[in-house]
Amino acid sequence: MSSTVRLYVDQDLGEGQTVPLSRDQAHYLFGVMRLGAGDRILLFNGRDGEWSADVAEAGKRGGVLAVQAQTRPLQMPPDLWLLFAPIKKARTDFIVEKAAEMGAARICPVQTDFTNSERVRQDRLQAHAVEAAEQCGGTYVPEVTDLARLDRVLDGWPAGRRLMFCDEAAVGAGLPLEGPAGPWAILIGPEGGFSEAERTRLRGLEYAHRVSLGPRILRADTAAVAALTLWQTQLGDWK
Ligand code: SAM
Repeated sequence: MSSTVRLYVDQDLGEGQTVPLSRDQAHYLFGVMRLGAGDRILLFNGRDGEWSADVAEAGKRGGVLAVQAQTRPLQMPPDLWLLFAPIKKARTDFIVEKAAEMGAARICPVQTDFTNSERVRQDRLQAHAVEAAEQCGGTYVPEVTDLARLDRVLDGWPAGRRLMFCDEAAVGAGLPLEGPAGPWAILIGPEGGFSEAERTRLRGLEYAHRVSLGPRILRADTAAVAALTLWQTQLGDWK
């Protein structure tokens, strides 16, 4: 039975390669998806593109896959980072999942003056990004970085990367986005918005483009999806 089950594995993929399965992966493939020996699935690791693989051994606590052939090359998303201030857990999970589906190359939780969360579970958020890539057919998995203070991130800002600073106080500003596709980042603030000190610093950055997402105040998770949509349709790979 051929299935379109796609599985992310953290190991090199190549012809004739065998992939040992963890207990969780075996449970998903053989328990949940009811696959068995001889079935074909699709594998990707975020580096080598997508590969077909046959189930060589299927068991309750493990199994082995035999890699067959590359089905798709690695398709990199645009060089776009999403910086966002973590909000409530479920909504933060949502932002990470949508950013991975919508083509962010890196997802960076940032702590701002009004951010409530002190820490994020980076491993859990990374797992959400992997699941989103499995579901959306992506061959690349965005890195979810650990929570970092926004002012630190700005202190070490890489030359040449532009910043789409989504400011709810910037009614009518900033669209359409100008400038080349090159390296960009989107910044979404927390429920409490940006502090005046942050807004002053951000407005003084020559690489920052202050953008309005319309006349209404969006929830941070809504704003993340809206900003990703705007950027992708104007400068990204949705054109
Ligand atoms: N404290 C703000 C207020 O009540 O006015 C609300 C902040 S909003 C919930 C969270 C973030 O989403 C903002 O910091 C901004 O980055 C983004 N955002 C929400 N609505 C926006 C809009 N209309 N234009 C631009 N950015 C927006």
